[in-house]
Amino acid sequence: MALVTTDAIALRSNEFGDKERIVVFLTEKQGKVPVVVKRTRSKKFNFAAIEPMTLCRLTYFGKENAHLYRFSNAEIINYFGPVREDLMLLNYSACFSEILLFLLKDFDQNKHVFEVYKNFLEQLSQFKNEHNHLSIVLFLSLIQVFRSVGIYHAPSDSCCSCKKKLLVGSETKIRIIDRGGICPDCYRKMGHSYHGGRTDFFTMEISSLKLLEALSSSKFAVAVKLKLPTPARKEIFQFLLWVYQNFTHRDLKSVNVFKEINAAIV
Ligand SMILES: [Zn+2]
Repeated sequence: MALVTTDAIALRSNEFGDKERIVVFLTEKQGKVPVVVKRTRSKKFNFAAIEPMTLCRLTYFGKENAHLYRFSNAEIINYFGPVREDLMLLNYSACFSEILLFLLKDFDQNKHVFEVYKNFLEQLSQFKNEHNHLSIVLFLSLIQVFRSVGIYHAPSDSCCSCKKKLLVGSETKIRIIDRGGICPDCYRKMGHSYHGGRTDFFTMEISSLKLLEALSSSKFAVAVKLKLPTPARKEIFQFLLWVYQNFTHRDLKSVNVFKEINAAIV
């Protein structure tokens, strides 16, 4: 029997029969872990500790290599109150946790991704009306997570296949596939495929791509100081969503709410 104590953040919580819930945690020690929690616990227990988005110190147990663990205890470390009180911040967080939920495999140890999510929530809870800063924090966090699971290749202005410069004449848009930017000739040769109505490429303005390159190659403290014009912000966000969708073959539910809120800010 293994007993594990680790820092963790719940990503999702679902009913499981009449008396139990399954809470999927992102843990520091073991990656994404589903844990069964009895709903009838002592009155002293604070269920807020295992609500999605709460950073807690979690203890669970089960057989070695089990697929599902049983809950033992949790204590709140940070409830991220300011994020819960702001609908827009909540949506940033919902969007990010949904991505983690479907991108990460259960029990894939990844301390880095846990740190990225924790830092993301900390940044959100310090938000003071700087929307540019907030978008950049989201983009940088997503890029780090994508890199960490091996699905991000920072696009550049040369073809990822033949290495030729991508822009000729008056063109301003670049076609990007999962490995980076690609020229029309290589794209044609590739024999591309369409999955469920989704294209396997994304087109982006060169100006947005340059900003994305700068974001991808700078340190966090430097990157958060970049100024992103609204069109670039929207395009980079769409691109990062495309990376997620292209890999998981699913849409992001929380993004529909997010879009409305995003449209209201800019
Ligand atoms: Zn090429």
